[in-house]
Amino acid sequence: MAKIAFIGLGNMGGPMAANLCKAQHHVAAFDLSDGALAAAVEKGAHKAATAAAAVKDAEIVVTMLPAGKHVREVYEKDVLPNVAKGALLIDCSTIDVESARHVASLAQKAGLEMIDAPVSGGVGGATAGTLTFMVGGAEAAFGKARPILEKMGKNIVLAGDSGSGQAAKICNNMILGVSMIAVCEAFMLAKRLGLDAQKLFDIASTASGQCWSLTNYCPVPGPVPASPANRDYQAGFTAAMMLKDLMLAQDAARSSGATTALGAQAAQLYNLFVNAGRGTQDFSGIIRMIDGK
Ligand code: NAD
Repeated sequence: MAKIAFIGLGNMGGPMAANLCKAQHHVAAFDLSDGALAAAVEKGAHKAATAAAAVKDAEIVVTMLPAGKHVREVYEKDVLPNVAKGALLIDCSTIDVESARHVASLAQKAGLEMIDAPVSGGVGGATAGTLTFMVGGAEAAFGKARPILEKMGKNIVLAGDSGSGQAAKICNNMILGVSMIAVCEAFMLAKRLGLDAQKLFDIASTASGQCWSLTNYCPVPGPVPASPANRDYQAGFTAAMMLKDLMLAQDAARSSGATTALGAQAAQLYNLFVNAGRGTQDFSGIIRMIDGK
């Protein structure tokens, strides 16, 4: 049983903390939202009055916050000045690579081990304890974190040094955003050419057009019964989250000098979709916009 501080108990952090409680760890929880904090306490966590109080006696600190600015603020103001010596720091938020590296270097200067460990798998994966963790950091810290991450996820991969977990996450999600749009365009073209959607699926899913967006998450109703297309594009993975990750990829491309023309185009299309008030829909719902609806 480890003493764990958990900061950020939203849609993802809440169920992740609950799984640590279920594994008999002592979880000191903090969130700015009283509702999120109360829900975590109901699942077995211990309420901390502040983030600083949560980390005071912790052996492990887990953060699951919205964006880079929140992570920088919480680590600079609350975690690093108050955490005990020897604690291991794990940030699971999806944030920009630069912030991840900045915070990890502050931790290193303070003599603390830190990894970035963003996840994929959504709220369903967080609840079921089947998340994928993409980890950036030193091998020794990864080894220490693994038993804790195993209580929240199934696939746990060391991607490289600090920031590499975030890099893996945004590269993967850039593939996902671009491939989803490509699949949506193909179904819309097929419709206009009089080709049946199921026929296109049967052929492309066993031919060179095969990809996850098609075979696991098909954006038209029918071929993949579990895909959000069959429940009016109820998320799933929201379009707003996809836009966030595509923008992080674009920031990273700009700062590293990479040319990502299709990634840029996908970001623009998701921006249009989200600005049309559809940010809470599943990201595969962009097929409606591509269809002119
Ligand atoms: P969320 O908005 O539901 O939860 C974030 C929580 O952080 C909120 O409860 C908020 O009150 C809290 N918070 C913000 N600032 C804080 C502070 N200074 N101190 C303490 N608490 C603070 O978001 P989420 O859906 O749980 O996502 C969290 C992270 O996980 C994001 O970086 C997101 O990109 C990533 N992610 C989300 C999903 C998903 O499907 N929701 C999937 C993969 C990754």
